[in-house]
Amino acid sequence: MDPKNYAAPADLLRDRIIMVTGAGDGIGAEAARRYAAHGATVALTGRTQSKLEAVYDSIVAAGHPEPTIAVMDFAEAQGDDYQAVADALEKEFGRLDGLLHNASILGHLCAIEHYEVAEWLQVMHVNLNAEFILTQAVLPLLKIASDPAVVFTSSGVGRKGRALWGAYAVSKFATEGLMQTLADEHADMRINCINPGGTRTAMRRAAYPGEDPRTLKTPAEIMGPYLYLMGPESSGVSGKSLDCQ
Ligand code: NDP
Repeated sequence: MDPKNYAAPADLLRDRIIMVTGAGDGIGAEAARRYAAHGATVALTGRTQSKLEAVYDSIVAAGHPEPTIAVMDFAEAQGDDYQAVADALEKEFGRLDGLLHNASILGHLCAIEHYEVAEWLQVMHVNLNAEFILTQAVLPLLKIASDPAVVFTSSGVGRKGRALWGAYAVSKFATEGLMQTLADEHADMRINCINPGGTRTAMRRAAYPGEDPRTLKTPAEIMGPYLYLMGPESSGVSGKSLDCQ
């Protein structure tokens, strides 16, 4: 079975608690809605409250399990903020079954020679350091779950460097490294990466302003691997990086 074409059973994620970062827009919003549609209670995390509330409303209107919302800007958050999110999950649910690291920023496309140091640090912080700090904060909750899964989001430029993609590309290489290292340390957890491929979102528009968006798949069309890696049918798959396209 090719995870790209994975057809998830209706109850794939029933009773699972799944945190999605960057859940207010683009691929993260779609993943949150789909996880909820397959039975999960989704912990929506992101930086814009109104966007998270819109996703919350659409999930509740569809009759799926009521999500939770944690507004968190990874550019600003400190260690205590991550711990507060973990503590809230522990108090409400006592465990975490799944974590989708999806939030990222693109930064400007610019040659390394001219890349602004401050922007470099910010892109690395949001795209990489935040993943590390959040993972560390919720690991005790993942360890309590019976079938825990962590999914990171990579990119084609996280596997082969490309001119002008700067800190974004390097952060995605590092995300692959974080995923592999963590997977090697936790044989009892599924820990993998997904490369969505070119997808019709705001980030893609910013990277390719001249592109006709109708030539791109929508987030809804690339959800196979997102569901596959989060659910029990990918049991035994860990340390891998899957393509959606
Ligand atoms: P979008 O820009 O559409 O969405 C990114 C999400 O991340 C938004 O919800 C955004 O919040 C959130 N976010 C950004 N910065 C922060 C922050 N500082 N703190 C908290 N949340 C933040 O991107 P995509 O949906 O396109 O991308 C999703 C993932 O897929 C990313 O990891 C991206 O790198 C990856 N990817 C995307 C591809 C594509 O073609 N679209 C191709 C390859 C990889 P807000 O909405 O409030 O700004």
